[in-house]
Amino acid sequence: MTGFPHWYTEGLEHIWLPYTQMKTATPPLPVISADGVRLTLADGRRLIDGISSWWAAAHGYNNPHITAAMKAQIDTMPHVMFGGLVNEPALTLATRLAGLLPGDLNRVFIAESGSVSVEVAMKMAAQYFMNRGEKRSKFVHFRGTYHGDTLGTMAVCDPEEGMHGMFAGMLAKNILADLPKTVAEAEAFTVFLKKNAHDVAAVITEPLVQGAGGMRFFEPETLRWLRAACDEAGVLLVVDEIFTGFYRTGTRFAIEQAGIVPDMVTLSKGLSGGVTPLSACIARETVFEAFYDDSPTKALMHGPTYMGHALGCAAANASLDLYEQADYGVRVAAIETQLKAELAPCRTLPNVKDVRVKGAIGVVQLADASGLERLKPLFVEKGVWIRPFRDIVYLTPPMVIEPDDLSVLTAAINSVLAGV
Ligand SMILES: *Cc1c(COP(=O)(O)O)cnc(C)c1O
Repeated sequence: MTGFPHWYTEGLEHIWLPYTQMKTATPPLPVISADGVRLTLADGRRLIDGISSWWAAAHGYNNPHITAAMKAQIDTMPHVMFGGLVNEPALTLATRLAGLLPGDLNRVFIAESGSVSVEVAMKMAAQYFMNRGEKRSKFVHFRGTYHGDTLGTMAVCDPEEGMHGMFAGMLAKNILADLPKTVAEAEAFTVFLKKNAHDVAAVITEPLVQGAGGMRFFEPETLRWLRAACDEAGVLLVVDEIFTGFYRTGTRFAIEQAGIVPDMVTLSKGLSGGVTPLSACIARETVFEAFYDDSPTKALMHGPTYMGHALGCAAANASLDLYEQADYGVRVAAIETQLKAELAPCRTLPNVKDVRVKGAIGVVQLADASGLERLKPLFVEKGVWIRPFRDIVYLTPPMVIEPDDLSVLTAAINSVLAGV
């Protein structure tokens, strides 16, 4: 690319990029604007976004309703501290999320990032038992799962496949298990959980899709088995909907497909529609009650500086309006049908191991992933932003994408993988 802007060449000498070997990596692309499902690069090229900015930009970019809500909020009050003070967007968001989530998931803690909301859920679980006079220090987590990059959440990610293997020695010791996929495995899991319950605060899982672990799908009955096992063992269940929440798997929340009520749910990514950092940990009344006491030491001991961020919550409320106004379930069903039809031809390509689609997630898994890095620039040449990782080439497009643009994305995958 020619004509790099000044801020780009200068800034690359100072910025530290994520998951990137700065010495050998292909330089990142400078984006100067985004609109709808398109990103505009500094040299004028436009790319259709197949990834939704790490799965967050559900409504596409620069949605006028979200922008207007944020502009109004910024002129009134971008933020005030959440200790001793509250603000309208945060309280409205809490009321709305409590209304959207099933059962008595009614208490909403609003933080800034997904990882932090998982940390909060873990802390809630541990302190829930402390407040009841029990010390339980461990979490049961599953192979193939991802819950964040902070030290606490790293300790509930897959220890081998995750990006965190080298830190193993300094992480909290938790209990790794396999997700039960059959009745027999579910029974074995229940026995195992009951045996360890005295030291286990919570079981934590992603629902229906293990995202960063490689877009692996599992059935709703697995979630029902986990709920039943936790009930029987007297252990809390945390479901991390940071990726799946807000229609990515077809329903508003993935847990709806299993009909379960977890003890805590974490949300982020689609919550603000990819516009501002924002997350939430929503707990059941039964969890909240263990903290509700005359003793100050039983209060939840957590409070990020930017929690309950007014501007972020205004964006999230506008994002929730959009999910309510248009039927995203119907949209995602159409995307699913199209992804299934248009990715199916990949099955016949020599290096393809599996093709799978759930909701607005389309995955082509490769048999040999050694050439993955070489594919990335080929997608840019085709005018699309697709970022393969591990052994998969995948799409998580904005849910507002039109059929023609989605076809450009699937055609790019078909032709790049076919070596055309
Ligand atoms: C992205 C993600 C996280 C971490 O969220 P951050 O905002 O990146 O900290 C946690 N859990 C799941 C399931 C995720 O997909």
